[in-house]
Amino acid sequence: MKLKLIAAVLAAGIPLAIGGCASTTEGGAVHAERKQLLLISSAQLDQMAAQSYAKLRADAAQKGALNTDPALTQRVRAIASRIEPQTRVFRADAPGWKWEVNVISSNDLNAFCMPGGKIVFYSGLIKQLNLNDDEIAVVMGHEIAHALREHSREQVSQAMAAQGVIGVGAALLGLGEASADAANTAYEALLATKFSRVDEAEADRIGLELTARAGYDPRAGVTLWQKMLKANQGSRPPEFLSTHPAETNRIQQIESLLPTVMPLFEQARRRG
Ligand SMILES: [Zn+2]
Repeated sequence: MKLKLIAAVLAAGIPLAIGGCASTTEGGAVHAERKQLLLISSAQLDQMAAQSYAKLRADAAQKGALNTDPALTQRVRAIASRIEPQTRVFRADAPGWKWEVNVISSNDLNAFCMPGGKIVFYSGLIKQLNLNDDEIAVVMGHEIAHALREHSREQVSQAMAAQGVIGVGAALLGLGEASADAANTAYEALLATKFSRVDEAEADRIGLELTARAGYDPRAGVTLWQKMLKANQGSRPPEFLSTHPAETNRIQQIESLLPTVMPLFEQARRRG
C-alpha cells in the first residue's frame, strides 16, 4: 500500500518540498504537540483532496445519492457549523478553510474529513448505529482532527522518506501540472491508508476537545465507540474501522480525557 501510495503521488506530479520536523497545530488543552515529518506542502495535498472530493460529490449526485434526506443533511451541517469555529484553538487558519459538508445515502458505515475541511458522512453510519447529535459530533471532531493535524500529509511524507524517493520526486519537478485523474488516483490511495495508532490517539484527543468546545457532550465518545465495537462483531463491520484501527483500550483513553474536556463542555453550555 505504501509503495502504491508513493507511486500515485509521484504520478500526480507533486513536487516535493524538503521541510523539516514541525507541528501542524497548537497543543490545546489536551496537549497534542508532537513534531511531524512533512515533505510535501499542504497546498498540494489540499488541491488533490479538493479534486477528489468534487469527483466523489459528482458521482454521488449522478447516482441520486447526494443529500437526498434534507433533514439529515441539515442536521449534520448544523453540527459542523458549531465545530468549525472551535478549530482556531488548534490552528489559526482552519476557521477560514473552504469547509464543505455533504451526506451520501449509502449503507456504508463511514465518514471522513479530507485535508482542507472537506467532510462526508454516509447515511448508514448515522442510521444503522442510531447516532445522536453528540455522537455525530464526536465522529466529526475526530475526523476534523485528522485534517487539522494533516495526518495524510504526514503519512505521505513518512512513506516517501522510508522509500528514499525524495530525490526521485525532485527530479519530477519539471513534469508540469498534475492531471485531475492522477490526483484522484493519488487521493484514492491516500484514503485507503490506515491511520497509525499515534494518529488515532491524537485525533481522539483533539476531536474530543473540539466536541466539548462546540457544546456537545464528550461523554458521547464512550457510547459511540461502544456502538462501533458492537457493530464490528456483526455481519457488516463498519468501513470506518478499516481506516481507524479500533484499539481495545480506546474507550478507557477517552474516559481518561473526560476530566480535561468536561469543563470546556460545561462552559460552552453556559454560554448557550
Ligand atoms: Zn481516525
